[in-house]
Amino acid sequence: MGLIPEHLWIDSARVSQELETFIKTSVGDFNREGVIVSLSGGLDSSVVLALSVAAVGYNKVLGLVMPERDSSQDSESDARLLAETLGVKVEKGCLIGWHFLYMPAGLNPDTSLMLTAKQRELMRVRGPRRIRNEKPLLTLDFWNDAPVAGGCISGSRHYFHINSHGDVEPCIFIHLATDNIHDKSLREVINSPFFRGFRAHQPYGENLLRPCPIIDHPQVLREICAEFHPYSTDGPACGLITSPISDALDKYSQEVANIMDTVWERESAVRHFLPGKFVLGKVDEKKSVVKTPV
Ligand code: SF4
Repeated sequence: MGLIPEHLWIDSARVSQELETFIKTSVGDFNREGVIVSLSGGLDSSVVLALSVAAVGYNKVLGLVMPERDSSQDSESDARLLAETLGVKVEKGCLIGWHFLYMPAGLNPDTSLMLTAKQRELMRVRGPRRIRNEKPLLTLDFWNDAPVAGGCISGSRHYFHINSHGDVEPCIFIHLATDNIHDKSLREVINSPFFRGFRAHQPYGENLLRPCPIIDHPQVLREICAEFHPYSTDGPACGLITSPISDALDKYSQEVANIMDTVWERESAVRHFLPGKFVLGKVDEKKSVVKTPV
């Protein structure tokens, strides 16, 4: 075992078998035809590719060669070599990528898993924006591209979510509702006081790099809930608006403000993206824009 400490030894044959079984079972459970693996040419994706081929066969594995700019120059050729060696069909044809942050929604949310404020800024600079500048890929960043969309799009400003029970939620991450699609028409729901309340508050501040009522303006979400008394769609109480998650989000939002407000002031190019009526100005002026009913 060389330099590897004894407590890190693993039975690689047994672990490989377990992982192959997991991959094979997962493909079946989710009723999928196969596996797609993004290949950097590095060790991790190489191992995943090898396990996937062993689990479901090479003709059911698609390898996408996706080295990073910071990867060594040999990464792409290494990835291709590995894929071809394993008999995988290699295509460099990804068209769209979508970047989400971990959101503390649902049961047992864990705010320690969220990107820190610094990591969020790093992702803004080095994430999807960089990729779309350098590659023919439409990559979207669900938070840092908010200036392009004029801020939060929830509450039917441009989007809402209906869960599997028919509850109509302002956003897929806001597990609160006042109406169910089985009881009311969509037109009624999106013109409900609850949804109108969201639209009336949008955007939640001048800095559209802090667009979200969940993680950037949690006090706004609590205000809306206090006014319209939505029910929780994922349990006895929505963790987003109750302690300790709400306390953690208050702290988190302040840390994000400390960094992102500086970025917002510094980078006029970000503000340049503001579409149409969402020009810089007083918050009240913006609110009047988005109060228009659907
Ligand atoms: S509530 Fe947050 S996550 Fe949902 S659309 Fe608005 S900004 Fe995005």
